[in-house]
Amino acid sequence: NQTILLKKRPIGKPAQTDFEFVKDDADLSVKQGELLLETLYVSVDPYLRGRMNDAKSYAPPFELNQPIKSGIVAKVIASEHPNFKEGDYVSGMLDWKTRQISNGEGLFKVDKNKAPLSAYLGILGMTGLTAYLGLTQIGKPKSGEILIVSGAAGAVGSVVGQIGKILGLNVIGIAGSDEKVAMLTDKFGFDHAINYNTTTDMKSAIAKAAPNGVDIYFDNVGGPISDAVLFNINKFARMIICGAISVYNNTEIPKSISVQPFLVKNSAMMQGFIVGNYVDKFPEAMNHLTTWLTEGKLTYTETVVEGFENIPQAFIDLFDGKNKGKMIVKI
Ligand code: NDP
Repeated sequence: NQTILLKKRPIGKPAQTDFEFVKDDADLSVKQGELLLETLYVSVDPYLRGRMNDAKSYAPPFELNQPIKSGIVAKVIASEHPNFKEGDYVSGMLDWKTRQISNGEGLFKVDKNKAPLSAYLGILGMTGLTAYLGLTQIGKPKSGEILIVSGAAGAVGSVVGQIGKILGLNVIGIAGSDEKVAMLTDKFGFDHAINYNTTTDMKSAIAKAAPNGVDIYFDNVGGPISDAVLFNINKFARMIICGAISVYNNTEIPKSISVQPFLVKNSAMMQGFIVGNYVDKFPEAMNHLTTWLTEGKLTYTETVVEGFENIPQAFIDLFDGKNKGKMIVKI
């Protein structure tokens, strides 16, 4: 049995040396009220970077020399727990371990006949919920409006754009490669897509894609891309600040333009979003996501990396844009 510990707090971009693989000697015998889990799929997510810093945030920092945790789908190998039986599949926040004992807290059963198991870490998991709830709760979309999404080819962004289309919006995506922008229009039905790595003047490129301005901005990246969007917002625009991956590895406070004049001039709203604040809306969101998925209105893509030993690299690769859709590690 193996586990991955946080060995050092990353400085700048995370590196392999920040992680340590160790043999886990924990007792795996199952006592009353417990279950033994075997890890099948591990979600690696940009937000884990924040938990690797020793800083106050909405989730407590990971402790040094302790296992890292993330969303995991696991198989129940043995159970002495009344709610779970051997052979069940579960999803929850679990340790980066090949096998582990759980008391069942925070685990929910997932059905592999309804969707592939990895989907419960993406479209039918945290990132799908984030896309739906961020867009609807803060974005308050109205048919015919213009939505722009940064980090558009990733797990959250690709779902945001598709939900935007379902709700009748005009959708523009921003992503980091020609292959990704082609995927946005061809596979996910976005109206326009911009490659920020090959575009020298993002402000003008956005103005060209959205000649009538931007009503809703779903922001996954922050930094200069978001600055360029600000120049194009309309009166009463809503900006959902979901993430800021472009600055997660910064070692200095980022230099951004001052947002206040843009907000005042346009009576616009900018609001931070944390999916965990909307637990009461999860059933509604899951209902929509599942229905749209079954009806074929929503689709998704995954980048699946194989092997427990590749979890840290898959995580690091998020910061180099190596994923399309949800980054998953299959054990
Ligand atoms: P993604 O699947 O989008 O993966 C990360 C992507 O970010 C990469 O593929 C890359 O795509 C892009 N990226 C990396 N570095 C940069 C950069 N410097 N500038 C611009 N883009 C960059 O991850 P998720 O969908 O899981 O997460 C997206 C965002 O949403 C993150 O900021 C995350 O923290 C946030 N989030 C927030 C939640 C909340 O409750 N607030 C919940 C879940 C996620 P590219 O090739 O296009 O650069």
